[in-house]
Amino acid sequence: MKQIPMLNLKREYDYMKNEIDNSITKCLAHQQWILGPEVEELENKIAHYLGTKHCIGVSSGTDALVLSLRAMAIKIKGQEYFNHKDEIITTSFTFTATGDAILRARAKPVFIDINETTFNLDLSKVRAYLKNHTRMIGIIPVHLFGQALDMDEMMAIANDFNMFVIEDVAQAFGGMWLNKKLGSFGATGAFSFFPSKNLGGYGNAGMIATNEDMIADLIRMLIKHGGKDKYNVDHIGYNAAMDTLQAAVLLAKFKYINEFIERRRKIAEFYSKNLSGIKEIRLPQPLPKGYHTYHQYTIRVLNGKRDALQKYLKEQGIATMVYYPTPLHKMKVFDGKVKVVGEQKVAEKVCDEVLSLPIEPLLSDEELQLITEKIKNFFKQHKP
Ligand SMILES: *Cc1c(COP(=O)(O)O)cnc(C)c1O
Repeated sequence: MKQIPMLNLKREYDYMKNEIDNSITKCLAHQQWILGPEVEELENKIAHYLGTKHCIGVSSGTDALVLSLRAMAIKIKGQEYFNHKDEIITTSFTFTATGDAILRARAKPVFIDINETTFNLDLSKVRAYLKNHTRMIGIIPVHLFGQALDMDEMMAIANDFNMFVIEDVAQAFGGMWLNKKLGSFGATGAFSFFPSKNLGGYGNAGMIATNEDMIADLIRMLIKHGGKDKYNVDHIGYNAAMDTLQAAVLLAKFKYINEFIERRRKIAEFYSKNLSGIKEIRLPQPLPKGYHTYHQYTIRVLNGKRDALQKYLKEQGIATMVYYPTPLHKMKVFDGKVKVVGEQKVAEKVCDEVLSLPIEPLLSDEELQLITEKIKNFFKQHKP
């Protein structure tokens, strides 16, 4: 039987083999593995692409978040870390790293519920909460699955309540709100180049975008042990620069990013057109002012049928994933260390309903046809 995985990185490598091989071969020739010329070249290209003043290559998306927060603590508080009275709002329907980064910067995560069609923070709830709570210091919105949060309202809230914004853009490279790239609105934008992301390396890597010179300077110190001179440092730093080799791979893949995002959007259009007649699922709803990059095409399966659908598709050779099965506020690591604002009903509900379908750019039309036919078959066999 034909197997359709969530992601076929081998097929992608074959598609751009020459560029990747050439890029890696250049590194083998110059042997500058730490902060080699490819890192700077990638930083400049991506800063230009995003329209930000600075981009700094880092070791992962998680580190991009932690480093951003550490730089904010140093800038705002003049201290190495935040403390538990410093509250930072985020969503519990995200990858673990978003909340974990806040703990690692020693601040307190504050979870506010999401909107069920965008899967992003419910900004009306954020605003309502802030009216009575002035201790809030920052907010980390997550552009989940490649869908932009309403950045007009997000930045208006941040301005009204004097909070910083760090955008978690791990899943939204190339995404936009109106004509402005995501990751360029906040004090920083934290990108991930984990292999499965829209722009993925051959290992861990990430990037921080910022328009502020001071933040850029601090982050460049923090990734090199905490000082301009690593043998005489100012801050509690990390060894967290982006690998030259990852930058080389990413430079090759970056040439394809717009083509690949366009293809993802076409696939999403195909899915939405072909699955629209099924009453028991809810399809992604791209916001008109946003440019959705479809890192994931995530449907909601109603009436408790999600797991049965996933099992059926697996039997048909079609892989799917549940992003995410557990909201962060239910995880042990956050126990007693967070504030949960009201009930997280929507986050909890969608964890039981979501199913992400394969959406890699090189999926063939035949594969897409097969996936949608099998989904339709399932609902024919399982009538309400
Ligand atoms: C992938 C991801 C991260 C972490 O990125 P890594 O590069 O894996 O460390 C953070 N937040 C979100 C929303 C992610 O999807």
